[in-house]
Amino acid sequence: MDSCIFCKIASGEIATSFVYEDDLTVAFKDLQPQAPIHVLLIPRRHIASLNEANDPQLQGHLLLAARRAAEKIGLKQYRLVINTGPDAGQSVFHLHLHILGGRQMNWPPG
Ligand code: AMP
Repeated sequence: MDSCIFCKIASGEIATSFVYEDDLTVAFKDLQPQAPIHVLLIPRRHIASLNEANDPQLQGHLLLAARRAAEKIGLKQYRLVINTGPDAGQSVFHLHLHILGGRQMNWPPG
């Protein structure tokens, strides 16, 4: 999608260093990290949010890729977050998983 910043990152139009990538996904550091390690994993193809996702294979792959990305960056313990919709805190409307780690996480997340 032309106006989507994460599509531009995935396509290389915005030069970004990927901490993990495979055929279907890329992962890169969040601009405003909320933990010592904060990486975003996105599908290469545009899906606005989890509510628009309807490809079970891709959705399963995202979880596997999140684990592989975490392994690659040396995280054994981490939190995955998918904000879905503005009330949940979603600000970029291209499906993404936050991979957060490197500190003790609190619950409830707020
Ligand atoms: P969310 O609020 O769940 O939609 O998460 C969007 C995340 O994208 C936020 O944590 C932002 O800091 C991050 N973000 C926005 N633009 C960029 C960018 N160009 N590169 C890396 N992270 C970004």
